[in-house]
Amino acid sequence: MTKRIFRSTCLVVMGVFLACLVLIMGVMYDYFTTIQQHQLREETELAAQGVALTGEEYLADLDTERSRITWIAQDGTVLYDSHGDTARMESHLERQEVIQAMAQGYGESVRYSTTSMERLLYSAQLLPDGSVIRLSVEQDSILTLILSMLQPMCVVVGIALVLALVLADRVAKQIVKPLNELNLDEPHQNGEYDELAPLLRRIDSQQRQLKGQSIELHRRQQEFDTITNSMGEGLVLLNVHGRILSMNPMAARLLGADESCVGKDILAVSRDPEVLRLISRAREGERGSTVLTLEGAGYELDVNPVFSEDLVTGVVILLFDVTEKERAEQMRREFTANVSHELKTPLHTISGCAELLTTGLVRPEDEKQFAGQIYSEAQRMIRLVEDIINLSHLDEGAGDMAREETDLYALAERTVQSLSSTAERAEVTLSLRGERAVVYGVPQLLHGILYNLCDNGIKYNRPQGRVEVSVENAPGAVRLTVADTGIGIPPEHQQRIFERFYRVDKSHSKEVGGTGLGLSIVKHAARIHDAAIDLQSDPGRGTVICVTFPAEHKEFIQ
Ligand code: ADP
Repeated sequence: MTKRIFRSTCLVVMGVFLACLVLIMGVMYDYFTTIQQHQLREETELAAQGVALTGEEYLADLDTERSRITWIAQDGTVLYDSHGDTARMESHLERQEVIQAMAQGYGESVRYSTTSMERLLYSAQLLPDGSVIRLSVEQDSILTLILSMLQPMCVVVGIALVLALVLADRVAKQIVKPLNELNLDEPHQNGEYDELAPLLRRIDSQQRQLKGQSIELHRRQQEFDTITNSMGEGLVLLNVHGRILSMNPMAARLLGADESCVGKDILAVSRDPEVLRLISRAREGERGSTVLTLEGAGYELDVNPVFSEDLVTGVVILLFDVTEKERAEQMRREFTANVSHELKTPLHTISGCAELLTTGLVRPEDEKQFAGQIYSEAQRMIRLVEDIINLSHLDEGAGDMAREETDLYALAERTVQSLSSTAERAEVTLSLRGERAVVYGVPQLLHGILYNLCDNGIKYNRPQGRVEVSVENAPGAVRLTVADTGIGIPPEHQQRIFERFYRVDKSHSKEVGGTGLGLSIVKHAARIHDAAIDLQSDPGRGTVICVTFPAEHKEFIQ
């Protein structure tokens, strides 16, 4: 803009200057002509007086270098001419200045010379004897004038040009300065140019609009960041060219990237061929997923295209931990295999016994024994199925089971009662001590804990052994302890006995009617009640299992 103003100003100044120069030249030429005419008139008058007094002698003595003197008789004959041969000259009566002088005493005219194309000024004066004395001078043409003034004119034009350049530069800068200093943050405070007011008003309103939009965008970005930052899953957003638009902290941690990766190509973060293949497919509109091992855990990577008006405008990558899922899947598979295996054995026994009975190969005195085996195996299956049902119920969270304030001591009394005959058969003394202790929980599950712990205490005991159950109120807790003087559990098995179908001695467990699920049920039921299990066992001396229920559990559940 400065350049444009500078150029325009220069052109205008120079244009005006040249126009003025031409005008001045014209006026000056006119002025010089008038002066020359005056001089010519005065000289003519002088010459006329001289000739009137002394005749031709006067003319002969005159220096007529600059002007031409002609003396014309009354009849038009040229009597004297300073620049020509009078004999060959025609009559001058027709000359305009001569006609005028003869009529009025004085005449003048201007003519162009036919030979030299120069301007000639004529002045004629009538003498008393009727003759006319005429003077003529050549006048410089305007071109001659210009040529003669060329040098000073060049100097003047040069000075004018320099001045024009300096002025134009200053003017351009002065005009542009307020524009450069416009405060666009406060457009209405700029009052230098009234012409800019509509534009500034428009800028002001658009700026306010932009500010509003940017605040809204900022708010949304914060919302988005808050959500994605607290996500347990990794989230990466890419544009259609594979550049990272956003990456939440979880994704950055898993992919080993940092904040600076935003704006870079995804290649800067991952070069896994499978990931790159999924991203390139997503850019073509296809979704896909794969499982990666990151930080030692299994993560599912879901890659989805983002569509806008049927065009892929970006890619969303979601990373979530599937270790738990895989573990649960694995457990389910193992559980199914274990259940099938556990059911197969009694079913084979039942089927074998029944087959023998139906074929009549069994001696009548042995039939009772066979029937008894079928019964005991069927009982085992029933226990197993019951335990499986209980466990699957616990797996679902037992949310539908009603909780109530339950006196654990009263419940233990009933359990001990129901197991007294079993204990008697095993020649084990089962005893209970303690006090009323209220637990807010599911009675059925609390009974499951008591039953399985007491049952194990009896099953894995020795004749004349003891199982002591105690229920007591501890500070902020209710403690249930089942201590036996049984075979104990070797330290290497102590961690695993709460796993499903885990047994220290499989055949012994089966012998005593164990399903391998009792302690799993105890563990689950305890977890639902937020109770902690503590196991202390000494092989050959006995086992103590302590379950501690939190006293504030009621409030916690509510
Ligand atoms: P089971 O139905 O076989 O008893 P559990 O889950 O109740 O299954 O127990 C798992 C294993 O832990 C048992 O097979 C047994 O080997 C061991 N066990 C449990 N309780 C005791 C205990 N009080 N004394 C010794 N061993 C025990």
